[in-house]
Amino acid sequence: MNDLNESIKQHGIGRDMVENIVIDMDGVLTDFYRCRERCIYSNYPMNINDLKRDQCPLVRHAWSALRALRRAGFGIILWTGRVEAERKVTEKWLAEHDFPYDKLIMDKPRAVMYIDDFGYHFKNWDDAVQEITKRYPHVMGESLLRNYKHFKLED
Ligand SMILES: [Mg+2]
Repeated sequence: MNDLNESIKQHGIGRDMVENIVIDMDGVLTDFYRCRERCIYSNYPMNINDLKRDQCPLVRHAWSALRALRRAGFGIILWTGRVEAERKVTEKWLAEHDFPYDKLIMDKPRAVMYIDDFGYHFKNWDDAVQEITKRYPHVMGESLLRNYKHFKLED
């Protein structure tokens, strides 16, 4: 909570105006699953046993989406099933790729399904950003969609 409050202060956003988005990492920011499949079925790019999470490619436009969400005023909370022991390597990877976030929560319980009345089934970032725009048209700041398009030119 302190990280978030600090971030809010830093970005000059009023506490009551903040909308948080909780985002998974593997499969949403990193293309971990496709990378793993490739290893299993075609032995590319490396043996599955050597596969490291921080060597996986990014999910397309993940960086642009997080940048745009941040600029639109959302608080970004990353919630991952990676264990606490992986925090350092995860933070390093996030910093290397310049991902903005307010809080990183590890140890999300492994489950076959997450049932949540605020849930969204991620397929790709284009669809996700469209859906966020539709659900939360009142979010302050510049248009989420406009920022997303802008950042996409850079990623
Ligand atoms: Mg995941």
